[in-house]
Amino acid sequence: MNCMGVRCGDDMIVVDAGMGFPEESAYGVDVCVPDFDFLEEYRDNIIAVVLTHGHEDHLGALPYILKKFNVPVYMSHFTAGLAEHKLEEHGLTGDVLMHRVEPRQTVSIGDFEVEFIRVSHSLIDCFALAIKTPAGTIIHTGDYKVDETPVIGEPIDLRTLRRYGQEGVLALTSDSTNATVPGRTPSERAVIPAFEEIFEETEGRIIVAAFASSIHRLQIVLDVAQQFDRKVCVLGRSMLKNVEIAQRLGYLDIHDMLIPLNEAKRLPDGEVVYLVTGSQGEPRAALAQMATGSYKGLTIREGDTVQVRNPDGTTSNAFVYYR
Ligand SMILES: [Zn+2]
Repeated sequence: MNCMGVRCGDDMIVVDAGMGFPEESAYGVDVCVPDFDFLEEYRDNIIAVVLTHGHEDHLGALPYILKKFNVPVYMSHFTAGLAEHKLEEHGLTGDVLMHRVEPRQTVSIGDFEVEFIRVSHSLIDCFALAIKTPAGTIIHTGDYKVDETPVIGEPIDLRTLRRYGQEGVLALTSDSTNATVPGRTPSERAVIPAFEEIFEETEGRIIVAAFASSIHRLQIVLDVAQQFDRKVCVLGRSMLKNVEIAQRLGYLDIHDMLIPLNEAKRLPDGEVVYLVTGSQGEPRAALAQMATGSYKGLTIREGDTVQVRNPDGTTSNAFVYYR
């Protein structure tokens, strides 16, 4: 439920409006959104919402905050694609002023100047923010990892971050998964050889589970599938939505590899890979349904290879072979 207000003089911007997911024990609660009451006091000061990236925990509560404070929203093109979808679900299409910004672009928002800085993350088109105020500059990293060779797009813009460091920073607000663990995370590309090995060795169907938002990972599967002449069938509502948006905006190169389920079912086992949601064992996702019963007539059976974790050697390999 990321949500931060930054106030300077009479102006306030809100950075991110994220959704949270409740523990399983919270029966009947599907999602959590921030209590925006803390912003009521500044109702007349709020002039914009700025989004760092499109993950649900940064974007999911956007409709809820806009219903209370209808202000312009600044974000990247891909984040805007996800935001549009979200606003549509809430019947807000056409009611919201959306500004799509580029990396390195600086925008004046009231008393603030905000520069959007490219960062790498599991999602694409993600920003850190340099929020310049008369009192000094705040660097807000959003979620990030330092990936110098991302699969899609340019690497993290360390040069610009360094320049701000040299100029002087008033405050740094920063969040990166496993930041307290020594060492560094390998580039997303590090998983490619392991995927190639699986595709090389496997004769039956391959089922790859991934986060619906891991666009870099989806591209890797598409690339390796092309290399080994397998068609790709995407299953799961959220993954289909993300693939559609990423493809439409030109981030994802599908090489004509995508086929619908009815076509995939007719192909020989060795000519198809299923890309599915449910890598965390979510009970309602495609993978769990395929494992415990059937998902749209598809059941995991003997001879299938199901790949659910990072196959990069640094984390546990969890290949489940049904024989
Ligand atoms: Zn994120």
